[in-house]
Amino acid sequence: MASGPYYRSYVRQFPFLSVMSTALVWFRRDLRLTDNPALLAALQHHRHVIPVFIADFEAEAPWQPGGASRWWLHHSLAALQRNLASRGSGLVIRQGDSLPVLQQLLRDSGATAVYWNRLYEPALVARDKGIKTALKEQGVEAESFNSALWREPWELKTGGGDPYRVFTPFWRNLSSQLPPLTIDPAPERLPAPANPPASLPLEALDLLPGIPWDQGFYAHWQPGEAGAFRALERFVDQGLDGYHTRRDLPAASASSRLSPHLHFGEIGPQQVRAAIERASAGRAAIEGDAEHYLRELGWREFGHHLLFHFPHTPEQPMYARFAAFPWRAPRDYAADLQAWQRGRTGIPIVDAGMSQLWQSGWMHNRVRMIVASLLTKNLLIPWQEGARWFWDTLVDASLANNTLGWQWAAGCGADAAPYFRIFNPVLQSEKFDPEGAYIRQWVPKLAAVPADVIHAPWTAKPARLAQARLRLDHDYPLPVIELAASRDRALAAYQELKAG
Ligand code: FAD
Repeated sequence: MASGPYYRSYVRQFPFLSVMSTALVWFRRDLRLTDNPALLAALQHHRHVIPVFIADFEAEAPWQPGGASRWWLHHSLAALQRNLASRGSGLVIRQGDSLPVLQQLLRDSGATAVYWNRLYEPALVARDKGIKTALKEQGVEAESFNSALWREPWELKTGGGDPYRVFTPFWRNLSSQLPPLTIDPAPERLPAPANPPASLPLEALDLLPGIPWDQGFYAHWQPGEAGAFRALERFVDQGLDGYHTRRDLPAASASSRLSPHLHFGEIGPQQVRAAIERASAGRAAIEGDAEHYLRELGWREFGHHLLFHFPHTPEQPMYARFAAFPWRAPRDYAADLQAWQRGRTGIPIVDAGMSQLWQSGWMHNRVRMIVASLLTKNLLIPWQEGARWFWDTLVDASLANNTLGWQWAAGCGADAAPYFRIFNPVLQSEKFDPEGAYIRQWVPKLAAVPADVIHAPWTAKPARLAQARLRLDHDYPLPVIELAASRDRALAAYQELKAG
């Protein structure tokens, strides 16, 4: 295992490393043992490794993990604990401010090094930089690695030397310099010291909800590295062929559902790419699907690139002129926001999406775009409200991708849908869920409504709804907003911004 060009170059770089020493491997959102560069480097250069996880959510403020992310994290850490135990090691869990906790662990264990994989959220970049400097100043070897992206956000620049703001040239550049595909297997054994530092029990982190709203999640997800492999395998076997066309159909379950696994680093983009390239090699019929899929992973890289270079974007529009957009005031939109959050807008595709989100912690990409458009355009509610709700309820909540998605939908971000292009949720529903299968799954009250009226039940004759045992405004709400008029209002607001 400790061989190959990577190892040789590393030893050249750090000839002072002692093979008798101990290193802490600080796990964060890289909760895997396969293809984990920090873990690999620690094993190559130290006799013992101590895997560590520190719950330091305050450092992520104001973007501490939301409820659904905490649920995922709990189960992902449990899976990592099992995985480490099966290799003769264990996870040391601690809680608090990362630097003093690491310093205490170094003292407790006699370790002389800390290895970790990098994160890209602005607050964490700053924290980690400070930690690296402080540790080095006290003579500790502190090294960080890239486990999450094909290319670091600072490696890609436009011809003029600036960060990218448009996806197509970004992708052209990135796809022409993807890193070589070498995947390091998980180590078979992890040499633990005789007396590893004490660990808190996982339950002490209190990550699971007090009120059990998470019961539906268990049927949909298997957090952890093994679950990530299973999802990837399932996608390669059943989803890749036809991905290009079927990915937009929410009822088809045709996308990979790898987003939470990627977010928590239970699998890395190199591993996913290797599997996709292996599966599509020599199969001309699915080359287009594979290409399209890798391009979606390119959007993920683009999101990280933007977040790194434009750290204000989780809270502020990318373009300052949008800060003056005439959104409605909170007291005016509070009831509509609540209807949207609870899936009670009366617009079936929107309610189905919000119900899928609440019940499973995830929503199909096409439907994310539809619900975001309704919120920001028809309802004129600031995109930050939607981003916050997604942050709390998505198991894949990622500051990079969520910010990109919301700014794209609201028309105020990099390479965004122009504000004046307003989705009609009924037409979207007819096009992408023609039989209403997705709506029926997530809004059972509409299960018996015929396909020709399920997308806009308020347009149906009451007798047709009666056959389906549905009374509008009683069993299911009337639309919270009139679509055509609210579209005009949104366009007028946009004109006001342009004129202002
Ligand atoms: P697949 O179609 O299988 O795609 C594979 C992977 O590519 C995904 O797992 C994801 O990592 C990446 N990807 C795909 N589409 C996008 C995209 N548009 N932007 C960035 N990366 C993408 N994605 C998140 O991971 N976290 C979020 O918090 C998030 N918030 C979003 C909010 C809005 C308003 C919108 C419109 C999109 C958001 N997305 C977010 C992007 C996208 O919806 C999800 O990545 C996708 O639905 C995940 O499902 P999948 O893994 O089956 O995707």
